[in-house]
Amino acid sequence: MTEEKWNWLGDHLAVDLANTVRRRGERMAELLSDTAALEEWFRHERERLPEPGTIDEGLLSAFLALRDDTLSLLRAAVAGEALPEPAVARVNAIVTSTPLPRVLGERPRQRHRLPARSGDAHRDVLATLADAVVDLLGDEQLYRLAFCDAPSCGQFFHRQRPNQSWCCPACGDRVRAARHHHRRTGGRDER
Ligand SMILES: [Zn+2]
Repeated sequence: MTEEKWNWLGDHLAVDLANTVRRRGERMAELLSDTAALEEWFRHERERLPEPGTIDEGLLSAFLALRDDTLSLLRAAVAGEALPEPAVARVNAIVTSTPLPRVLGERPRQRHRLPARSGDAHRDVLATLADAVVDLLGDEQLYRLAFCDAPSCGQFFHRQRPNQSWCCPACGDRVRAARHHHRRTGGRDER
């Protein structure tokens, strides 16, 4: 596993949670195929999350269940559809499993989240992630959330300008190259 594997992380925490699958050809590939991969993801996010405790199979499967719910919620949001109720209920159950108090900062428009301290590290880290999902989907900036439909991408991102279609210039280049190839070959032998 290499550093650049996770070089897209650093968006909203809920977007980083969703972007743990990636398009390979036509399929979505799982990037968190074992606990070592999850450990690496946590390492990249350590400044935004409580200490996750032992990264075992139990945490991995709970993490992936929350990630899958997050994917279905973000897909619905981007499509302008109602949020799928079972995913809403599961995220709400996780986020209410431990107190996550917000407190005032020193200046206007500042607020700080106190770390969850239920005594259960797995519960705390999952609740913090679920809270990020609530934050993203309830935010007035949600209209900036978009899905990059480029080959080898298939990730969520935040638009920097209203008409932005792709998450980065490299994705735009791949889309143009694929279209050019498609025209040249008349649609044969695509990808
Ligand atoms: Zn992209």
